[in-house]
Amino acid sequence: MNVGVRRVGIKTIDSLCRCDNCKKSGEIKIQSQCEYFHLMYLIPLFSLGKSSKSKCINCGEVLNYIQMPYNLKCEAKALEERSKVPIWHHSGVFILITFILYLVFILPVSIKQDKENDKIFIEQPILNDIYIYYTDDKKYTLLKVDSISDDTIYILENLFSTKMMSDIETLDKLENYQEWRYEISKNDLKKLHSENHIIKVIRK
Ligand SMILES: [Zn+2]
Repeated sequence: MNVGVRRVGIKTIDSLCRCDNCKKSGEIKIQSQCEYFHLMYLIPLFSLGKSSKSKCINCGEVLNYIQMPYNLKCEAKALEERSKVPIWHHSGVFILITFILYLVFILPVSIKQDKENDKIFIEQPILNDIYIYYTDDKKYTLLKVDSISDDTIYILENLFSTKMMSDIETLDKLENYQEWRYEISKNDLKKLHSENHIIKVIRK
């Protein structure tokens, strides 16, 4: 991941000061700049503050604030004070606040809602419900409801399993399910859910 510091110009003005190097007047430009810490060059995370530099168009001498003579420094300081750091240079702070609000307020509600939905889905199974099943050897696989008859549910077991929960949906292909099916009672289904073997219900 590429992170670093980037400096960009905010405002540029023409100075009337004389260049100490080539002795010509009215040739110096002063630019106020701001620095920000960035992610991937595109996302400014937070501002590191303002600075300024000058450049003589005639001789090409470039000075940072510390190197400037007194008169030039005064102009640069005044320019810096008039220049505002663009609000988007603080994007990272807004992203962080949004992420924290999501973690604190939205995610727990969403997880709770998902768990309540799963409980309802387990109690009232329908055709083609898919259960994410956590096996005893700590892998994930899928079970699919093939048919239902009164209290009995007929399940097709997926032939494959994965160690990564994030890969689980890739297993859901018709050809990946076994042709034979096994029976399970609704009570046993609830038991598998309460024992955290069935960890999620996918209902499309
Ligand atoms: Zn010069």
